[in-house]
Amino acid sequence: ITKILKISNFHKYNKVFDNFYYICKINFFNFEKVFLYMTFLEIGIKSEILKAIAELGFLKPMPIQKTVIPIILNKDTDIIALAQTGTGKTAAFGLPVLQKLELEENHIQALILSPTRELCIQIADDLMNYSKYIDNLNIVPVYGGASMETQIRALRRGTHIVVATPGRLNDLLNRRVLSLKKIKYLVLDEADEMLNMGFAESIESIINELPESRCTMLFSATMPREISAIAQKYMNKPVEITIGTKNSGAENIKHVCYTVQAKDKYDTLIRIADYYPNIYGIVFCRTKKETQEIANKLIYDGYNAEALHGDLSQPQRDAVMNKFRNKNINLLIATDVAARGIDVDDLTHVINFTMPEDPDTYNHRSGRTGRAGKAGISIIITNLKEKNIIKLIEKKIGRDFIRESVPNGREICEKQLFHLIEKIEHIEVDHSEIEPYLPIIYKKLGWLDKEDLIKRLVSVEFNSFLDYYKDAPDLNVSEHSDVRRKSSRNHNDNAFTELYINLGRIDGIYPSGLIEFLNRSNKGMKFKLGKIEIAKSFSVFGIESDLADQMIHNMHGMKLEGRRIVVKLNDSKSNKPTKEKDKKKYKPRNKKGLI
Ligand code: AMP
Repeated sequence: ITKILKISNFHKYNKVFDNFYYICKINFFNFEKVFLYMTFLEIGIKSEILKAIAELGFLKPMPIQKTVIPIILNKDTDIIALAQTGTGKTAAFGLPVLQKLELEENHIQALILSPTRELCIQIADDLMNYSKYIDNLNIVPVYGGASMETQIRALRRGTHIVVATPGRLNDLLNRRVLSLKKIKYLVLDEADEMLNMGFAESIESIINELPESRCTMLFSATMPREISAIAQKYMNKPVEITIGTKNSGAENIKHVCYTVQAKDKYDTLIRIADYYPNIYGIVFCRTKKETQEIANKLIYDGYNAEALHGDLSQPQRDAVMNKFRNKNINLLIATDVAARGIDVDDLTHVINFTMPEDPDTYNHRSGRTGRAGKAGISIIITNLKEKNIIKLIEKKIGRDFIRESVPNGREICEKQLFHLIEKIEHIEVDHSEIEPYLPIIYKKLGWLDKEDLIKRLVSVEFNSFLDYYKDAPDLNVSEHSDVRRKSSRNHNDNAFTELYINLGRIDGIYPSGLIEFLNRSNKGMKFKLGKIEIAKSFSVFGIESDLADQMIHNMHGMKLEGRRIVVKLNDSKSNKPTKEKDKKKYKPRNKKGLI
């Protein structure tokens, strides 16, 4: 606490304690973690931003942030940083710039140039996330291939930060839509990429519009002569920083962990798929059976998914891989062995649906994304019992997982809505095909005003998402939940098979007694149990599907107090001890026809 007081300069940041308490709370008062945030405080990050990045799971500054942030916060010095994607450079320039904006001055103060539209959107999104708790701060991304009118309107409403691709910004400058005369910060992100893409001239003409007093930050993975030339011409005694030397894939990967109950793993998977509408990834399962089951469920629920495992013939495997490469399917559900030969460069996600066998396997799985300098996300869907494995993996990869919350219904709907709007904005209209129908369309819809028409159009697709997620529960499990209490009732997903046993209440059996009996009868076998339901004369229980046969085999011919014990697959509908409970209101759904 003394340290916090000293660092936070209490009278200056009087909100610090509120926010510090909040950070403690979201880290479940894990002080080891909480004290890591001290480094962000120490390098001068103010508490509103600290609160936002704590929510994003940033524990401590990455090396580039540790170097760049204090330099910019203390003095507006020009910086050249040799840094790859995935090193945390967006926060390195973003956090100090956000912190130093004069919000009451309503003009553009920071300009960030980036080579591609995707990066531009990504940077704007990141900055919005970091500044979530700063009121009245505006950020506008402008990039090619999107409606100029919409961007002009956004700029006219006023903004503090513009994130732009050079080509589009030049067009806008030529139309005199914006003025860059009062820019204080210029960031050239992925400068080498911008030059490779032929933006040198555009960049120079943009820089000529800026005041000389600005602070310039240049980030580049490589430092070719052209970049040095730009630096010499347009920068003022820049400080040079090098972070990392090699573009190793691992550095581009964000490692994320969602902790849920085992029965909610499949639902978590679809939430991830819905939250990232442009997802293109591999979902890893341990067994062939599980791989096929998950793929079947996804296909049934309307996702573009296929299974890849050793039970498929070579032509079948080739067909699946072709579909995946051509992006006819965007989710490939695969076993580790089957995925070995896959060489696809632009995967956005790797999802560990089942825990990898060991940390090395995790490394192989996650290394399928974040290739060729692209950013990737490797997600692990885990339950509390697997906490120790997570720790081993963290040790192996030398990084902590970012503990994220499974997106809730509202967050997913928001993402889908923006995705839909983007789609509407960029859809290519086939004029000749639609022409013959226009008179009837106008006749039917002509009476609607523009606002009404837009609302209805969006609702056609969006309503189904709203409906689907209306009653969706929170799937997150807190790390402080009672594992033991949950263990007897938390598994019912399709990784579990239901078995029948001829012991019930009349035999004095309770769930705890049944667990003990199964453990005793299967010595040396490690297994997880799913849902247990005790009826009058029999019980049914879930067991990891892989181990069901082994348990039946182990218990074959066993006797209890002279009575023969029968354990078999619970394939009879009559063996349903209770009425159908736990039936989800919001499942299953068929996503076909949605976005
Ligand atoms: P960037 O190089 O800016 O694209 O960042 C790479 C990834 O690292 C992004 O997914 C960021 O959200 C994440 N990131 C940035 N800073 C931190 C941090 N201090 N701790 C954890 N993750 C971070």
